Amino acid sequence: MSKFERNMIKVEVAQEIISSHVKTLGAETVDILSALGRVVARSIFSNCDIPAFNNSAMDGYAVKAKDIQGATHSKPRLLKVIEDLPAGYVASKRIKRLEAIRIMTGAPMPQGADSVVMVENTEKIKNQKSKIKITNQKLKIANQTTKKFIEVYKQVIIGENIRKAGEDVKRGELVIKRGSLIRPQEIGMLAALGIRKVSVMRKPKVGIISTGDELVDLGSSLKPGKIRDSNRYSLLAQVSKCGAIGMNFGISKDARGEIKNKLKSALKANPDMLLVSGGISVGDYDFVKDALLELGMKALFWKVAMRPGKPIAFGTIKDTVIFGLPGNTVSSMIAFEEFVRPAILKMSGRNKLFLPEVTAVMEESFKKKKGLRYFVRVKIENKNLQLFVRLTGPQGSGILKSMVLADGIMVLPEEVEVVKPLDRVRVQLLSAQEV
Ligand code: AMP
Ligand code: MG
Repeated sequence: MSKFERNMIKVEVAQEIISSHVKTLGAETVDILSALGRVVARSIFSNCDIPAFNNSAMDGYAVKAKDIQGATHSKPRLLKVIEDLPAGYVASKRIKRLEAIRIMTGAPMPQGADSVVMVENTEKIKNQKSKIKITNQKLKIANQTTKKFIEVYKQVIIGENIRKAGEDVKRGELVIKRGSLIRPQEIGMLAALGIRKVSVMRKPKVGIISTGDELVDLGSSLKPGKIRDSNRYSLLAQVSKCGAIGMNFGISKDARGEIKNKLKSALKANPDMLLVSGGISVGDYDFVKDALLELGMKALFWKVAMRPGKPIAFGTIKDTVIFGLPGNTVSSMIAFEEFVRPAILKMSGRNKLFLPEVTAVMEESFKKKKGLRYFVRVKIENKNLQLFVRLTGPQGSGILKSMVLADGIMVLPEEVEVVKPLDRVRVQLLSAQEV
């Protein structure tokens, strides 16, 4: 092992060190309309039953099941309709033997009824003697003056077509666990519970500085030898995708003084986390490490045994968590996904910190160096309920297109040297939206 590699640590060790130095932030209250994508700070228990009352699951007739037992088309049962009950109202009458109440979906079950027969299994008749079928229009008029009757052609069992009080949510039940992400369905549930404001975790503030004499921002022309600063943009997007607030601190030249000043002014803005892109390697112009140490950073590690993204610095300056990320475009993004994202999610109080994973079958051969964990960009395909992966092309740490084409990151363990077609592999999913 070379001297350079000596103080490399394993990915999990780095993740544990990060986790033990990152604190969960406090809570704030927001209106449920602004709560999408936020994290629930306190578990939500129901203060009521949903639905609050037994109600009809169908448009039909509330009946006593016993009255229509054995009903068929050849042996219909005749019931007297004593009331018409739309959703939103309570029946004024109680059903007695051989009576029914016309009921709409969602209307509360009338007293005396124990089931609902679907309207499709009934027919209205004007009066029980003539059984003359008449049009709906005429029936409407007739109903205002005469009694209604229905014929029922199908029996029901007690409780049929009734939605029971509390069948969705029971009073006192845990409905949304602390640390859950609020999705549209959680917002609907909060509204159903009558909750207008919700306690959510504060969004972490994450500052980003790019370093490098070669970097040019958008809007300026590229001179020979210069490149676009893309990392700051991908990092700002990654930060906002995991629900944090990005603070853009621009570009610093590779000059000790300028880097230090930029860091100082960034720290003055009180970010919860600061990401410094580039300048943490062993190059002659890599001054970030010295600048951070001079500003009093408690350094926790500098290198992780992985590819891409070996040089990764982590430490704290007072309450601010600091990451020094590698300058190469892919290394920067991968280091974010494996270390920064879990740190942001921990700050945000999330329950699950790491990217979701699946197992897939590799379709190609791939060689790697022993001793390093590899994060290989892949395309995932579902063939007959089995997931397969292929590389997105060349895997160099500066080949940003390998990320653009990727929908997953294949994680290859340290001890592996070669992967062959049909080998099973672990794949982290890169979703379009945070989940
Ligand atoms: P460094 O980590 O500073 O040694 O940079 C490693 C490589 O990444 C160099 O080729 C840099 O030009 C490139 N690089 C550094 N910072 C950025 C950035 N912000 N955007 C795009 N490429 C970068
Ligand atoms: Mg550099």
